Amino acid sequence: MKIYIDGKFYDEKNAKISVFDHGLLYGDGVFEGIRAYNGRVFKLKEHIDRLYWSAKAIWLEIPMKHAEMTKAVVDSCRRNQLRDGYIRLVVTRGVGTLGLDPNRCAKPSVIIIANKIQLYPQELYEKGMEIVTVATTRNLHNALNPAIKSLNYLNNILAKIEAHNAHVEEAIMLNAEGYVAECTGDNIFAIKGNQLLTPPLSAGALHGITRGTVMDLARESGLQVSEPNLTRYDFYTADECFLTGTGAEIVPVVKID
Ligand code: PMP
Repeated sequence: MKIYIDGKFYDEKNAKISVFDHGLLYGDGVFEGIRAYNGRVFKLKEHIDRLYWSAKAIWLEIPMKHAEMTKAVVDSCRRNQLRDGYIRLVVTRGVGTLGLDPNRCAKPSVIIIANKIQLYPQELYEKGMEIVTVATTRNLHNALNPAIKSLNYLNNILAKIEAHNAHVEEAIMLNAEGYVAECTGDNIFAIKGNQLLTPPLSAGALHGITRGTVMDLARESGLQVSEPNLTRYDFYTADECFLTGTGAEIVPVVKID
């Protein structure tokens, strides 16, 4: 496997970053998870746009234009002969001093790993997943906005640990007001009759690329799509529930709490 770091490709064992990189020291950076299917990168423009929005929201200036970044992702797939797989695109604040001041970081680093992913066992897709609501509240917009795909995923990781402690793979995260926000690494949907419902971005849902794709397809197929504030009640009483995410794709949910 060849890994892209700042314009060069390295073997896996030589693909290393500094211990002074603020991505490591402070989780200061942003990322994307992207898929390739059948020799094509799925919704690459949408992912690149979201990456630059995440970066802009944390005052991080990516030292490459959108087009260069797009090319670097495609080149990474070609180098690794990856026709079907997962691409992790990471931009860190770069090497700095031990203090958290981002101004002391000379230049952001860009890392691209083009590899495989298998998040959940096949059985979950066939039999459906059980999920629980966890106590860890989704980040507040005015603390760390959930719209930013930052390298600080502790909020989601803590919720994931709670899910695992309850012997399930995913968790419903509520926002501070008690509305359903999303899951730890996936968006959530309910179907009620002819309606497809999913929490709004304002409730703390990530602007999921899979979410957007599912909403487009649902509209085309005649479902009524809306994004109202949703509570657990709406999921308990739904006809169907499923999760969406780049890594997970679409996962049916058969039991909640
Ligand atoms: N919510 C969170 C918190 C995520 O990290 C992700 C991405 N894994 C998603 C939702 C799904 O977004 P996408 O469909 O763009 O992968």
